[in-house]
Amino acid sequence: MFWQKTLARPLKFSGIGLHGGRPVAVTIHPAQANQGLRFVRADLPGRPQILAHHSRVVDTTRATTLGENGCTLSTVEHLLAALRGLGVDNALIHVEGPEVPIMDGSAAPFARLLTETGLRSLPWPRAHLLIEQPVELRQGEQWMRVSPGEAKITYTIDFTHPLIRRQRFTAPMKPGIFCREIAPARTFGFLKEVEYLQAQGLALGGSLDNAVVLDDTGVLNPGGLRFPEECVRHKILDAFGDLALLGLPLLGRLEVSRGSHALHHKFLEALLAREDAWSLWVPTARERAARPRWAPAPLWEGVPA
Ligand SMILES: [Zn+2]
Repeated sequence: MFWQKTLARPLKFSGIGLHGGRPVAVTIHPAQANQGLRFVRADLPGRPQILAHHSRVVDTTRATTLGENGCTLSTVEHLLAALRGLGVDNALIHVEGPEVPIMDGSAAPFARLLTETGLRSLPWPRAHLLIEQPVELRQGEQWMRVSPGEAKITYTIDFTHPLIRRQRFTAPMKPGIFCREIAPARTFGFLKEVEYLQAQGLALGGSLDNAVVLDDTGVLNPGGLRFPEECVRHKILDAFGDLALLGLPLLGRLEVSRGSHALHHKFLEALLAREDAWSLWVPTARERAARPRWAPAPLWEGVPA
């Protein structure tokens, strides 16, 4: 957990964009320490870059969209969740279109590709945002809170749909748990909503191959759900992706109730404004030798081969 990481070698893949419905190619290149995660709109003249940072968020309706240098990139959250979930600090992500491919609606394909590609450590220690005081943001029935403690997320959702209702799940922020318990959870939507979006020319690439679709009583996907509480696990995945926009791992206990991309983003801004509530922690040589009680386990512990 102490050293910054990047990919061991470049990684190429492609998939369909959820909104445009067209194939999008992606190449993730290794990057040097302290470069962060950067996107490149490789399909545009001059190949403009967009830093994966909360200050670049331009839209949070249904997905997280970043914008910089006169261009935007949508649906960044599942790929960012996989990168952050596996502990990748630095990478240059070339995307040949306006959105990151949706793959199967989860982060599992990204996590699998990254695991197959392998990571390497960089000779620079990783900084962490260490939570020292509780911070909370409430918006009606939605709320989000972080407090000092072990790095983990507890998420609660509450829908009237008979198959969802109230779901609650807790996941420690560890790569092995991310790969097994969170990354495979797919995005979900309701049939009426999907029909409405497609009538508006949106979600044209959306299908049962890349989302869990629910009608009034059940799941339309022939294979059913991957987990009984797949929906709340996907919300944790989304939170992982949106939190990656901090640019460094968060060491604290996070709780979210009825969250959304918009709430995750507003919470990050509220948290960073509360400078008394956190500190930047870069492990010293002595701390690297004696891992503190609250620190996550080493990055590759438990990652499935
Ligand atoms: Zn999502």
